[in-house]
Amino acid sequence: MVMIKVKKLPHDAGPAAWNSILANRIAAPALAERRNADWLIIGAGFAGLAAARRLRELHPVDRIVLVEASTVADGPAGRNSGFMIDLPHDLSSDDYGGAVDADRQQTVVNRAAIKFAENTAKDFGLNEEALVVSGKINAAATSNGLANNRDYAAHLTTMQESHELLDAAQMKSITGIDYYQGGLFTPGTAMLQPALYIRGMADGVVRMGVDLYEKSPVVSLQLAGTDWIAKTPSGAITAPRVILAVNGHAESFGFYQRKLMHVFTYGSMTRRLCADDVKRLGGEARWGITPADPMGTTVRRLSGIGGDRLIIRNRFTYNPSMEVTSNRLDRVALSHNQAFKARFNSLGDIPMEYTWGGRLCVSRNNVQAVEEVRPGLFTAVCQNGLGAAKGTLGGMVVAELASGYSSELVRQVSGQGGLKSLPPEPIAWVGANAIIRWDEFQAGREL
Ligand SMILES: Cc1cc2nc3c(=O)[nH]c(=O)nc-3n(C[C@H](O)[C@H](O)[C@H](O)COP(=O)(O)OP(=O)(O)OC[C@H]3O[C@@H](n4cnc5c(N)ncnc54)[C@H](O)[C@@H]3O)c2cc1C
Repeated sequence: MVMIKVKKLPHDAGPAAWNSILANRIAAPALAERRNADWLIIGAGFAGLAAARRLRELHPVDRIVLVEASTVADGPAGRNSGFMIDLPHDLSSDDYGGAVDADRQQTVVNRAAIKFAENTAKDFGLNEEALVVSGKINAAATSNGLANNRDYAAHLTTMQESHELLDAAQMKSITGIDYYQGGLFTPGTAMLQPALYIRGMADGVVRMGVDLYEKSPVVSLQLAGTDWIAKTPSGAITAPRVILAVNGHAESFGFYQRKLMHVFTYGSMTRRLCADDVKRLGGEARWGITPADPMGTTVRRLSGIGGDRLIIRNRFTYNPSMEVTSNRLDRVALSHNQAFKARFNSLGDIPMEYTWGGRLCVSRNNVQAVEEVRPGLFTAVCQNGLGAAKGTLGGMVVAELASGYSSELVRQVSGQGGLKSLPPEPIAWVGANAIIRWDEFQAGREL
């Protein structure tokens, strides 16, 4: 008999700002009964919601149940920076690039995910603020950053990908600030208001007949004959096929032990900018920049449902416990304020209204796990910090894989060759944190 007791439930650090600035939403009920289904999906992030949508397309009358430990858009999928990136974006490299053939393949599959998300957003009637393919800029604040951008641009030329190098004046006219010496624009990234997108996805799959339960963490999974029984604190679901879309929490279900690196990154969002602030800032009303050095600071300028705001994202920490303390958030808030002041000093004192952290799951060899791990039990996890595109991709593909479909996409995404083991603790902890700190130090003004 296979009996899995879930060792740890997700704990999200700080408020989910993107979700907090939207109107209140009535959550779906918690599971409070014993019921049967044809499919159970665990986790309502990018992967779980994409799997729900794809399964519904493939099986119009099957009973599909989706359970989420937290509330929709409060988990990592609703608290990220909202870049659904088409091009290679290896966070452990110097300039995001890797081997040309592998990067070409990755770009093709990322674009399949973006297309899927775009079509879904259209079918579900989401507005442009939830998802728009408007591209992104790798911004450079230092000569090293400019060199990274040039290297990456050369890589894109080899890949025959369109891109445009921007000078300091162009960067100023977009951002309103003169912090950046240059930028590299690529057109294929979809920009999300992540909480609006995730809410819209959840509402859309429910309208398609998927049964959603929130505040319903799965605490155990048991194989009884050919059925899995998933227990939550006040209910249970029996289903022959289960999709585990919980990213790093796959380890809490006993899978991929010592193969998943649990990393946190952090965001802060200002209070609403008033008309005066907006005027003083200048530039365009909406933009998004990733740092030319992967260890640098991501910045977004929003203008929409939650008002005009600026968002800072930086710092990584390796946390095998999958949790961070409020002290850590306090220290990160200082780093965010520093990065904000360095860039937006001309705005004077604009306080951050929210500071939060969120989990990433990274593998040592930068691959995902999309596969059948036990009879009828499938995973779509380990998105390597790029879950907007890769989680969506994993969800689409796992739905097809579990339905017995084979295609080039399924072959490519599910056959990534397995996750490489991590070194033992405390070597991994000391090594990972030392490398992160050193790389952040080296990032200089990019941070
Ligand atoms: C500050 C920040 C900025 C980021 N920026 C970007 C970005 O710009 N672009 C990008 O691509 N990625 C970004 N990321 C990473 C991205 O958010 C993740 O890669 C993505 O959310 C992973 O998607 P997922 O669906 O696989 O997992 P998740 O979004 O983590 O969803 C898994 C869900 O499973 C639920 N769950 C876990 N255990 C259980 C259980 N026992 N029972 C039921 N449910 C359970 C969790 O509550 C969670 O909602 C960022 C992350 C952070 C924190």
